Amino acid sequence: MSSLPIELINSLEGLPGFDRESFLRVHAAAEKITSLRLNTQKLITPEKQAQVLHALSASGTTNVPWSSTGYYLPQRPSFTMDPFFHAGAYYVQEASSMFVEQALRQTTDLTKSLRVLDLCAAPGGKSTLLQSLISEDSLLVANEVIKPRAALLADNITKWGSANVVVTNNDPRDFAKLPGYFDVMMIDAPCSGSGLFRRDPELVTEWSPENVALCSQRQQRILADALPSLKEGGVVIYSTCSFSRAEDEDILDWLSDHFELENVPLMLNSDWHIVTAVSAKRNCTGYRFYPDQLKGEGFFIACFRKRSTEQARRFKEQKNTFLSAKEKVKLSPWISSPEKYEYLLHQDDVLILPPILAGDIALLQQQLYIRKAGIKAGQLGPKELIPDHQLAAGTVVSANIPAVNLSLSEALLYLRKEDPGVRPDVKGWALMRYEDMNLGWAKILPNRINNYYPKELRILKEISGL
Ligand code: SAM
Repeated sequence: MSSLPIELINSLEGLPGFDRESFLRVHAAAEKITSLRLNTQKLITPEKQAQVLHALSASGTTNVPWSSTGYYLPQRPSFTMDPFFHAGAYYVQEASSMFVEQALRQTTDLTKSLRVLDLCAAPGGKSTLLQSLISEDSLLVANEVIKPRAALLADNITKWGSANVVVTNNDPRDFAKLPGYFDVMMIDAPCSGSGLFRRDPELVTEWSPENVALCSQRQQRILADALPSLKEGGVVIYSTCSFSRAEDEDILDWLSDHFELENVPLMLNSDWHIVTAVSAKRNCTGYRFYPDQLKGEGFFIACFRKRSTEQARRFKEQKNTFLSAKEKVKLSPWISSPEKYEYLLHQDDVLILPPILAGDIALLQQQLYIRKAGIKAGQLGPKELIPDHQLAAGTVVSANIPAVNLSLSEALLYLRKEDPGVRPDVKGWALMRYEDMNLGWAKILPNRINNYYPKELRILKEISGL
């Protein structure tokens, strides 16, 4: 890899846990670590989880020590050629980031109905993790300010399959219009990226002390914009993938100086080799992840609780159109436990919303630019529902819908949006599946199959051996 910037190395001298020689050695070795988190809402049984892990690596996987669903793979497989990947069976995520699970579990009562914001969310690693930890009657707002990245975030949330997520495309300052609304706020801030130099050596060329200073200012601005929407007693989790003090401990001091926030220390297991760091001025605790000391990339995380805030505003009630009882009847065969949801009519589409989201949707629509809310069931025509891909990918889809199990080669053809070559007995709309995991829709006609896999998601790579 290109050599690490000497100004960076010099600036890290004296920081807790920093060991110059071993830091340089691990970067020179450039080992590639692959890890992922299983989607246990889709892989419900331990057998199914084991099957997916085995398909990825017959030689075995090991647990990410601070995560309940994270695994290291001994080699990086071709995820593109794995139908389980497209079915949302797992999310490929860097291991250190999975520590967000500890931050959330140790600061927050997860049995409660919570409103959670992931402010800088694309491509969705922390969002899918947060969603897997909160209760069904909680709500996650996953936000990304950059439009094309918000589209990628929405695709990854669709694949994850959960109904209790809203994807928004807003600037952090827009959240000031929701004062005191969130119980938890994750701010995985854009940063100078030094923590990812081993994995992505290209980033080295973009690093400079000036950029660190700019990132630090931007982090302060993002935090200042977002914090008014945190509830009294609510928790903010701040993280970066930078080693620089200006983006890490100094931000903790700045937060303590400017806001009614109380730093919340976390419990660590000494086997994890995570380094506890204390800020110079206000003694705030944060946690440093060094790639030479644990199996993961560079990462920094800290938690705060809000002491007091301006009175939470009472929000105006808005009207929205929900489906009539008659229309609900048309939809119910498509949904498992249809009584658990509300059905919002949005233009021609029906959105499946859990009650917390149905109650808040008007407020969120009023204040934010929503890319995706809940799960889109599809378009309700006079005769039938034209189902949407979100429904096929969603965990709410009924198990009684006709389905066709595809072999690996048929599944890959389907995911390329080609004819998978099967001629099943069923007629009409059917789920295309691989190893019992839904990939998408097809309409089975008397002498052909119409492939409804979304064009923008299709595999473009040639498939050898088919
Ligand atoms: N949390 C994501 C995950 O785990 O997959 C990674 C987030 S990445 C570290 C930071 C994100 O902040 C990027 O998606 C970036 O587009 C976004 N971002 C960039 N500038 C921003 C700004 N001024 N305000 C808010 N977000 C910004």
